[in-house]
Amino acid sequence: MPSYGPEVFGPPPRDTAQKFWDPEIQTMDRERMRALQEERLGALLTKVFNNPVPLFRDKLTAAGITSPDDIKSLDDIRHIPLTVKQDLRDSEGAAPPWGTYRFTDPRQAVRVGQSTGTTGTPTISIWTRRDLWIEYESSARVWWRYGHRPGMIVTHAHPAYLYGGGPMLSGSYEYFGMLNIWVPPPDTDELAEQGLRFWTRVTPDIPFMGFSTGRFFEVANKLGIDPKDAGLEFKGMPGFGMGKGMPLMTAGAECYAYVGGACGEMPGAHINEDWGIVQAVDPATGAEVADGEWGDLVVTTLDRDNGLLRYDLEEACAILREPCSCGETSIRGLWGGRFKDLIAVQGTRFQANEVEAALRGVGEINEPTLEWQMVRPTEDARPLVVRVERGTGAGGDDVETAARCAAVIRDKLGVDATVTVLARETLPREGYKAARVVDE
Ligand SMILES: [Zn+2]
Repeated sequence: MPSYGPEVFGPPPRDTAQKFWDPEIQTMDRERMRALQEERLGALLTKVFNNPVPLFRDKLTAAGITSPDDIKSLDDIRHIPLTVKQDLRDSEGAAPPWGTYRFTDPRQAVRVGQSTGTTGTPTISIWTRRDLWIEYESSARVWWRYGHRPGMIVTHAHPAYLYGGGPMLSGSYEYFGMLNIWVPPPDTDELAEQGLRFWTRVTPDIPFMGFSTGRFFEVANKLGIDPKDAGLEFKGMPGFGMGKGMPLMTAGAECYAYVGGACGEMPGAHINEDWGIVQAVDPATGAEVADGEWGDLVVTTLDRDNGLLRYDLEEACAILREPCSCGETSIRGLWGGRFKDLIAVQGTRFQANEVEAALRGVGEINEPTLEWQMVRPTEDARPLVVRVERGTGAGGDDVETAARCAAVIRDKLGVDATVTVLARETLPREGYKAARVVDE
């Protein structure tokens, strides 16, 4: 094998008929995996004390853990205090710009990005080449499970620049060996048209547009482009169900990586246990909740240059340990959304995407795309205020449509809603994630 040159830019080729991208790791015996995790956790803790990494070292010391030897096995990990986003934000504020939680000198990194900042000041993430390699290898396991293979043409419209998502996804596709068509997020109709026109020239095999899919359909409709000519189809993918119990895929910007990916055998997503210890934790005690129950998603990264120790993403997660029929041996995770995004009204709590899932049941507002919005409730007893745009699908009048929407919301979520039907293109459009919940 060459040690320098274009040959080492990507992974070694493998038999396209093999079932797993990395069979050794993905089917590793449970005892060996546990031993690997313990060894890597020990290395992470050694770095915390020796580098040192002051934020984590001080937390450990305050909890009476003064050496890596104090954590003898994975069972002891529950004694390690949790760290939340606000801790990272405070650390960056007190020691700008990087804070005191980095495992490497930021100048050893090659990529930087910041979180979206939807819930406060964005924090900064850095990746060394090794960190990127782990992201790309983790992603490769996911693409392989989906049936993607090197040589396919893939496309996406992820945002870029300081938001690290686009470069990460592009990099992972290129590393995997697919031809990557990166079109701009469809923030405006003109930008959406750029992507659509290009796809009619070079049509992707895998038209996965995530949150933006609806926007492209809408603009294609306006321009008179048949979505099929652009390769656009609502194919669906394992791992992108809506509502509670979505398989655990990503875990925020700090541990960007695919923490895991779905194999198609629902429920849940296989967790990359060689590169992370993923737990569902009761934040009050730090202990794991029972299997299958919702707890806080807590991640300890393994084997990276820049790590995180018991990082609580403040999102809901459940862990499943029964063996999976697909043959992979890892535990699986379910993702239940961000606690901060939970909507509370009429004594119930739910995620906005559960309202969306309910509205998908009303045919006439789903063509060409479902466009809707709700007002964040401020009084518990009041009906939920929901707005939907009139669709092109066959339906009754607006009053009947509104009644049908209210009925599905009542049926699926158990809450009363006041629904207004608006003209098409009344609600604001976004290139990436539309703001479905507004404060008024
Ligand atoms: Zn499986």
